[in-house]
Amino acid sequence: MTEDLAKIKDFRFDGDGEFDLSACPTSLEVPDEQLEFYEAALEKNAKKIAKLQEKLFAAGEEGVVFLIQAMDAAGKDSTAKHVLAKCNPVGIFDYSFRTPTKEELAHDYLWRGHCHMPVRGEIGFFNRSYYEDVLVVRVNGLWKGYKWPKRCFDMDEQDFFDKRFRQIRDYERYLYENGYRVVKIFLNVSLDEQANRFIRRIDKPDKNYKFSAGDLGNRAQWEQYMAAFQDSIAKTSTKKNPWFVIPADQKPVARYLASEALLKALKDIDPEFPEPGESAKQEMAELRAKLVAGEI
Ligand code: ATP
Ligand code: MG
Repeated sequence: MTEDLAKIKDFRFDGDGEFDLSACPTSLEVPDEQLEFYEAALEKNAKKIAKLQEKLFAAGEEGVVFLIQAMDAAGKDSTAKHVLAKCNPVGIFDYSFRTPTKEELAHDYLWRGHCHMPVRGEIGFFNRSYYEDVLVVRVNGLWKGYKWPKRCFDMDEQDFFDKRFRQIRDYERYLYENGYRVVKIFLNVSLDEQANRFIRRIDKPDKNYKFSAGDLGNRAQWEQYMAAFQDSIAKTSTKKNPWFVIPADQKPVARYLASEALLKALKDIDPEFPEPGESAKQEMAELRAKLVAGEI
């Protein structure tokens, strides 16, 4: 059945060719009765991810950033919850990028993400990321109000953000060259489905805590956000750090595709348990013999 499921390669953008967000589907319109195949495949992937995570952790050579950007209620948290469900929490690090604190704003914009990089061997889940600095910051014109030298912002908006895109491409290349992979997911939810999810958050008492009236404000800025995502994804998709633009209106499909993206990165890394050296092997053999003999 897996061969009939959507293929992650169809949602991968690595800078080759034009990127057009308006042509990317928010739903594959998988019939309800077929969603269980996505759920089963996700479950299998989550197990595979956990096995590779154990090796990644044991090897301690390469770190992975699993980054999800999206409009509110697109399913950032729940996607990570399902994709990383079987992992050992010891090797998982997570960080949510909220409105920056005074201290964070007093630094350059890549600082806070860098402060929260996973160590090599870990998978770091970024709920939002430094991409907020080319999304919410752009849509709301926040960059114009920051306190910094004139030379840093005395230009038009496009030039300002093109400079940031170049900085982000360089930063992610720097990470790659230093033993990190960044798996970048955009959960592409539709305006209508977002409304349905907000309604559910209001209707269901156990979902009320997720509802924030403030989130509704972004609905009026939908087009500006999509334009900001379009520019960001088009200009920061690279061979080593591609974007995955995943249809998010059907959660089982989105979760499965996100698991495929992470699994692919882990398979590329191909982590192995470290092989003990000869002296370590000898020492273990001696200690084992003593344990068996009850000497220690
Ligand atoms: P949830 O609502 O599911 O808990 P969330 O990611 O929406 O998750 P919130 O605390 O509701 O979390 O929202 C965080 C807010 O912080 C978002 O509106 C986001 O755009 C904003 N934010 C993040 N980074 C920045 C930034 N650099 N500058 C300004 N606002 C930012
Ligand atoms: Mg929110």
